[in-house]
Amino acid sequence: MTDLLIRNARVVVTMDAARRELPETDILVRDGVIQQIGPGLETQGRTLSARGCVVTPGLINTHHHLNQTLTRAVPAAQDALLFGWLQTLYPIWARMTPDDIRTAAMVGLAELALTGCTLSSDHLYIFPNGTRLEDTIEAASELGLRFHPTRGSMSIGQSAGGLPPDALVEDEAAILNDSIRVIDAFHETGPGAMVQVGLAPCSPFSVSRELMRDAALLAREKGVRLHTHLAENDEDIAYSLAQFGCRPGQYAEDLGWTGADVWHAHCVKLDASEIDLFARTRTGVAHCPCSNCRLGSGIAPVRAMRDAGVPVALGVDGSASNDAGSLIAETRQAMLLQRVRSGADAMSAREALEIATRGGAEVLGRAAELGQIAPGFRADLAIWDVTGLEAAGAWDPVAALLLSGPPRVRDLIVEGRLVVEGGALSRVDAARLAADQNRAVTRLMAE
Ligand SMILES: [Zn+2]
Repeated sequence: MTDLLIRNARVVVTMDAARRELPETDILVRDGVIQQIGPGLETQGRTLSARGCVVTPGLINTHHHLNQTLTRAVPAAQDALLFGWLQTLYPIWARMTPDDIRTAAMVGLAELALTGCTLSSDHLYIFPNGTRLEDTIEAASELGLRFHPTRGSMSIGQSAGGLPPDALVEDEAAILNDSIRVIDAFHETGPGAMVQVGLAPCSPFSVSRELMRDAALLAREKGVRLHTHLAENDEDIAYSLAQFGCRPGQYAEDLGWTGADVWHAHCVKLDASEIDLFARTRTGVAHCPCSNCRLGSGIAPVRAMRDAGVPVALGVDGSASNDAGSLIAETRQAMLLQRVRSGADAMSAREALEIATRGGAEVLGRAAELGQIAPGFRADLAIWDVTGLEAAGAWDPVAALLLSGPPRVRDLIVEGRLVVEGGALSRVDAARLAADQNRAVTRLMAE
């Protein structure tokens, strides 16, 4: 039996059914699970003071391409739209080795951890030079983060009219076989699962209709979730109309890509009928506001989605289109962007925090055990010190998390274990990680 008592938090933002915010409160964690919340709790185990801190549920990232942390701020990709941006980066991604992919995953996940994220998804859709999904799974395990990797794929290369170079696409039978392999090897189903695998053909413009359909059938047979990119920008809509004769929502529905076990990244260009479709079918959306700004894709209609009942979560997206990977900054951006679209009352700081926590848990199918601070829920917690410079003087420390700061957590707890402690990664040397990353990029630039 391992106890951890978090004592004297200035505020605990529970995100429970009543959205209670509890002042001067303790949280008792036992064996990875929240046991008790309230004042004056006691333990024989470890105690961690949270005086002057806001404690929130761990933030949840539902869309990323961790390998892209090796292609941040690439000059030719800085000012391109989605399709041109992809064509600039594909050849660089094709040169990556399994070691590169692992290093990039460590760097991306470390940045997420330091900015409040306890559970991240990843969408790895290239497997160059012998890369395997477990290269990223091992990175998450080393850092101590909960992880939902998805087995991505591309199967239509340039010679077949697709966007990616032929060297980066795979045979569809091989994709499905490897999907079965990684689900059988790594997907956990019990309470507190640390790894859950999903299936994620990259996008309607890089795989066939048959692979989309077969991936959906396989996911349902295996009881895993489905993820892809959808309706990201105007080019994407035009491609769908020209190639498939329908909008992306229709395409998704026809191939089995709607339902509570499906979440789509971006959805910037969903129209009213597609929002209605997603709400009726409980199809989830990973909203990626920084990436949408960075690539000039537009402002996703998140207010309309939420009002209609679409499950919405957040994603930092890959570090080639962000180019950061701060989940708290992404949450702030989500709040700001809805205000640009619909006015200052379009989204509060608290609603954005809810999307980043409860929203993420729902979209990833973990709402019964993650996204809230409540007895029986897993102990995934972010502890934010609001006594420092950025938040000093804030009248409302909870809203201040997004309106002012701090930009990083003091401590991060996943399954009751400290992953970040006193502002530093507990298990991994951040300076060594950055050095590994810089070495890999130097080689990729020279090749
Ligand atoms: Zn993406």
